[in-house]
Amino acid sequence: MSSLPPQRRGGAPQGPSGRAPTSPKEAAAAAEERLGLPCFYAGQRVKGLFGCVADQFQINNRGTLPQCPQCGELVWAYMGGGERPVPEGDEDQARAPEQAAPAPTVQEGVKLEEPSAPVKVEEGVKLEP
Ligand SMILES: [Zn+2]
Repeated sequence: MSSLPPQRRGGAPQGPSGRAPTSPKEAAAAAEERLGLPCFYAGQRVKGLFGCVADQFQINNRGTLPQCPQCGELVWAYMGGGERPVPEGDEDQARAPEQAAPAPTVQEGVKLEEPSAPVKVEEGVKLEP
């Protein structure tokens, strides 16, 4: 075996640090992890008091989340407290494929009915002399 140099796969470099979110959804998830608050992004329909994660500009949102009017940030942290609000029309996430029925357990070698096997009784057979 010859020692080959580690091949680098094409695409974005992945590392433990410096991983930039690629979508508002990822950015919201990253901000949520960082802030410990439920985070949403522009385009989601969710009501409540939100603060821009970049400059803390606060809005009282009633419809679709906008871009931050101050800095253009897409990600908002939910400041209303209480339970995490559920965005309207977010059925893609809500519909989790958990309806898969458990596979029926198949037990092999289990006989439900014992067939009445004919038992031959031979008389006159001596097993032991
Ligand atoms: Zn902002």
